[in-house]
Amino acid sequence: MVPPHTSSMAENIGDPQHIVGVLLPLPLGTTYDYRVPDGLGVVAGDFVEVPLGSRRVAGVVWGPSSGGAVAANRLKAIIRRLDAPAMPEAMRRFVDWVARYTLNPPGLVLRMAMGVKGALEAPKPRIAYRAVPDVGSEAGPRLTPARRRVLAVLADGRMLPASELALAAGVGAGVVHGLIEVGLLAAESLPEAGAAWPDGAGAGPALSPAQATAAKALRAAVTAATWSATLLDGVTGAGKTEVYFEAVAEALAQRRQVLVLLPEIALTAQWLDRFTRRFAAAPAVWHSDLGAAERRATWRAVAAGRTPVVVGARSALFLPFPDLGLIVVDEEHEAAYKQEDGVTYHARDMAVVRARLADIPVALVSATPALETLANVARGRYGVQHLPDRHGGARLPEIALIDMRLEPPESGRFLSPRLVAALQAALVEGEQAMLFLNRRGYAPLTLCRHCGHRLCCPNCTAWLVEHRYLARLQCHHCGYSIALPPACPACAAEASLTACGPGVERIAEEVAALAPEARVAIVTSDTVTGPRAASELIRRIEAREIDVLIGTQMLAKGHHFPLLTLVGVVDADLGLGGGDLRAGERTFQLLSQVAGRAGRADRPGRVFLQTWEPEHPVMRALAANDRAGFLAAEGEGRREAGMPPYGRLAALILSSPDAGAAEAAARALARRAPHGAGVRVLGPAPAPLAVLRGAHRWRLLLKAERDIDIQATLRDWLAAVPPQRRVRLQVDIDPMSFL
Ligand code: ADP
Ligand code: ZN
Repeated sequence: MVPPHTSSMAENIGDPQHIVGVLLPLPLGTTYDYRVPDGLGVVAGDFVEVPLGSRRVAGVVWGPSSGGAVAANRLKAIIRRLDAPAMPEAMRRFVDWVARYTLNPPGLVLRMAMGVKGALEAPKPRIAYRAVPDVGSEAGPRLTPARRRVLAVLADGRMLPASELALAAGVGAGVVHGLIEVGLLAAESLPEAGAAWPDGAGAGPALSPAQATAAKALRAAVTAATWSATLLDGVTGAGKTEVYFEAVAEALAQRRQVLVLLPEIALTAQWLDRFTRRFAAAPAVWHSDLGAAERRATWRAVAAGRTPVVVGARSALFLPFPDLGLIVVDEEHEAAYKQEDGVTYHARDMAVVRARLADIPVALVSATPALETLANVARGRYGVQHLPDRHGGARLPEIALIDMRLEPPESGRFLSPRLVAALQAALVEGEQAMLFLNRRGYAPLTLCRHCGHRLCCPNCTAWLVEHRYLARLQCHHCGYSIALPPACPACAAEASLTACGPGVERIAEEVAALAPEARVAIVTSDTVTGPRAASELIRRIEAREIDVLIGTQMLAKGHHFPLLTLVGVVDADLGLGGGDLRAGERTFQLLSQVAGRAGRADRPGRVFLQTWEPEHPVMRALAANDRAGFLAAEGEGRREAGMPPYGRLAALILSSPDAGAAEAAARALARRAPHGAGVRVLGPAPAPLAVLRGAHRWRLLLKAERDIDIQATLRDWLAAVPPQRRVRLQVDIDPMSFL
């Protein structure tokens, strides 16, 4: 049977003039028409090479002619079809959908779905050699010992490329070539790489009754093979991963592909181990740090349906799976799912859309679901499965608040006596401890004791952060960095620069003074720079080579360390400032996750939150383990304010190297701001990050009631204001950052 999309599109495309619309991965609003040369049948989704000006570019046949003004006989022709499987219809609709929703040209979204260099050409076939059988005795005299060694390597019928063969046999390349010449080795081309199809059926652990119920529901969603969204809501350590592995196993049993999104792929070493143990096969990995060759091979294998499982960062959503059967979004509440550059999109929300367009289930997994997700559950759009208890009787840790006003640290220190005592006790017991502080470097601010001057980034509205190990000051926004100056740059006073406030390096210094024998590891994006460094760190933690972990949010997620019993949060209030709409929600989520690292096995966990605001609702909810109460209060506040998830937001950010131009553009936009029922525009105002990488920034915020078509409102608004020279306008639908 012909799949419906090829038949209907093929009809459209077989029109008499033989003209098709091709979408190019460029910031273009529409498709361009091209003639299909005689003899080249194309169907929608085909990757083709077309002329554009003097260039040749790759694009995708998007559909019939867009009915442009160019006469058919003057249209340029498609040059050739490229060697890649056609982009599936669900994927093309996804590209169009994301473009419409985020107000980006479809070509820019397409670029994310095909921006892999060289993936549209069949790779050069890899030639391998096998031994020619039955050479018999006549070959005998020609067989030197070296030649025999080569043939011995291939005795079991294997094939190897010449270089690998020489290496395996311990001979020079000449020996292998000699054998080829005399006809004792025969060449064959190897097929493109692909993974074996794991099944994983029945390989999981025995599930608890609650786990079994949740797993059954997720399996049923996969079997139903239609769209559904299910929140898997369970405390940290409840076994959520084991449960969704059941759904993965079900999809694989049906020979359908699976996509698992994780918020930070550098931290997935443990996840990969677990998956590999469970399914006896490694999934394909997709993230922005992959090498070019691996990207190409993975993209092609996914497109050809040869890859059963991909685990990836948000960009994996744009891989052209032909037969996706399930999407899992792990830690669905994570802000890291929001892409802030280029096409801004929220990968969790777009995963739900992708699933809907492909008519498949999606599972959203979290111990602290986003308010947006819970609202969708409340509205009945998403199903929910609960795992209320930790696996195997492990208890959730006790969370205690340390009121820093009543129990202050010694002067010049940052850890309160109670936390210090707990840390020392844990070390005596041979247990591991984790100190959490969401701040890289040594100190967030350096100022001159003499004149009060603060060292700031010349390109950004930001302080320079001292990194003492590097002896440098760095801007965490633009990467600007200078050596620590010997004197104040403003008043030239010597030895007057003082570090203010702690970063993780400074906490490590304090721990070294308190417990000189403790083995300490700092865990931040500065020290754990990739998947390999992450797995080495995890190995050291599991092997008890580390006593105290000191780190940023990189430590908060996903990890399961049985010996870790103590968690200390150095500055629990850190995320509450700044007036961000989600500051409270995010702090609650982050600190719940951090706390959840403690006591995951048989030893009970203890958590201390150092706070200056113990009466804050977030701190009280954390201490009382009252998620429901916190969510109810937070939700009510949002509802009253008409904020998400009960209202819609879109941010407009204008930026320009010219301060006046940015402001003028913002004011010009504001003059044409829409004002109807249910719509309000806030601003313009200079952004809190008023200068970023040398660009001056202004913001406007469009706030609308839920039933308003915010994209249509924005399109009309922006169409009424001509773009300004040297001013960049960025539209951020459902903004997560307000900087
Ligand atoms: P979560 O993802 O909810 O934080 P995990 O899936 O990481 O929880 O489970 C926590 C730990 O408990 C893991 O080591 C996991 O292998 C183990 N575990 C969970 N469920 C089971 C089970 N049914 N049988 C055996 N071990 C389990
Ligand atoms: Zn900067």
